Amino acid sequence: MKTIIKNGHIFTESEDYQADILIRDGKITCIGQKLSEEGAKIIDAEGCYVLPGAVDVHTHMDLDVGISRAVDDFYDGTVAAACGGTTAIVDHMAFGPAGVPLHHQFEVYKKLAEGKAVVDYGFHGTAQYVDEGILNELEEMASDGIPSVKAYLTYGFKLNDADVLRILEKMKEIGGVTAFHCENHDVVEYLRKKYKDEGRTAPLYHAKSRPNLAEAEAVERVLKLARMAGDAPVYIVHLSCKESLEAVRDARRHGQKNIFAETCPQYLILTEECYRREDGLKYVMSPPLRTRQDCEALWEGLADGSIQVVATDHCPFNYGKEKQMGIDDFTACPNGAPGVEERLMLLFSEGVAKGRITMNRLVGALCTEPSRIYGLYPEKGLIRPGADADLVIMDPKGSSRLTHERMHSAVDYTAYEGMRILGEIRHVLLRGSEIVRDNRFLGEKGSGRFIRRNTLY
Ligand SMILES: [Zn+2]
Repeated sequence: MKTIIKNGHIFTESEDYQADILIRDGKITCIGQKLSEEGAKIIDAEGCYVLPGAVDVHTHMDLDVGISRAVDDFYDGTVAAACGGTTAIVDHMAFGPAGVPLHHQFEVYKKLAEGKAVVDYGFHGTAQYVDEGILNELEEMASDGIPSVKAYLTYGFKLNDADVLRILEKMKEIGGVTAFHCENHDVVEYLRKKYKDEGRTAPLYHAKSRPNLAEAEAVERVLKLARMAGDAPVYIVHLSCKESLEAVRDARRHGQKNIFAETCPQYLILTEECYRREDGLKYVMSPPLRTRQDCEALWEGLADGSIQVVATDHCPFNYGKEKQMGIDDFTACPNGAPGVEERLMLLFSEGVAKGRITMNRLVGALCTEPSRIYGLYPEKGLIRPGADADLVIMDPKGSSRLTHERMHSAVDYTAYEGMRILGEIRHVLLRGSEIVRDNRFLGEKGSGRFIRRNTLY
């Protein structure tokens, strides 16, 4: 199976140039001028940009949150990902029953994804508690292709500071990355109860109960613990506010290494004004949406490289059903929103087309950096001979509107309904096969493969 992508304008994280790409057996084999090959299928990319398939390192497919379950399974969720130009995901596995080893959820998730996923996928481990067994297992997980683990500083299975330190020390030894959900648990619990007791139960109080500083305090704490662990690799998920960004910059200014920060499109584009809307429950997620100043600070942080990655935290619940659990009380609303399909379109339209970030930076944040940090490199997230032929061909001059109707997730809304979008995705290739053309999914259920990821060093 051979394909040539002709006349496209190729973008990588550091370059852009006009060239053809030859694909053989799912791999990029040659990049050059006027390529030809007997029997090759030709995709004409005249006037289009060609970029690596995007990598989303923060999704929650089929997530079981106890009170309900995220509505995208690994099929619907990855079809949505593919249609949005994402060809690889690394999913955060849900908590299992109390006391289970790390491999328990890995076994559960293998079954959830196999035969369903349509893009390539990996998983992050989830640390529910820490003991000698778990620490040893981190090493086994890494050799099973899962060299990353997530720790929560809030929610039911939150870890205390000593356990965070133990994990960081172990992951440093392994060369694995620890991802952290940073919010100060006690502060959030206190404020939630306070607002509830005062009868302030509207969605806006979801945001008020999780203030910027409750996040920034936890970010600072985790960064300092990572420093105590000898600059252990530390990755802040869904960084949402300017104070957290400052904490990351400060730590780096003090010379601390191996710090990675991620934000998501919703924190760049939407604000807490959404909670005042009649459908405010759609936006109940943690951390909550912030202010316009926070969005602008995050765009700057993304542009100057303080933030490495834009992922999505895709975790959809139907507005017409699960989200309504919060109708009389925001604390009863399942946290999360869809976004896996919208990311590339939003980052191009709101970022590149508006001059906030360059196209190279977009490729860095959506493709190459997440791939490198989480060990999908050098197969994913780059355009180079030898890499997987995961590619997106987009027309920078196309335009459309984001509407729920055109989306592929099983959820009943998009958080960006009606937004005008510049740039249109024409083709998406996964390992050389065209899986999307003009917003139509052409791939096959179950064609995604598990990615055995590498350690950071
Ligand atoms: Zn998440």
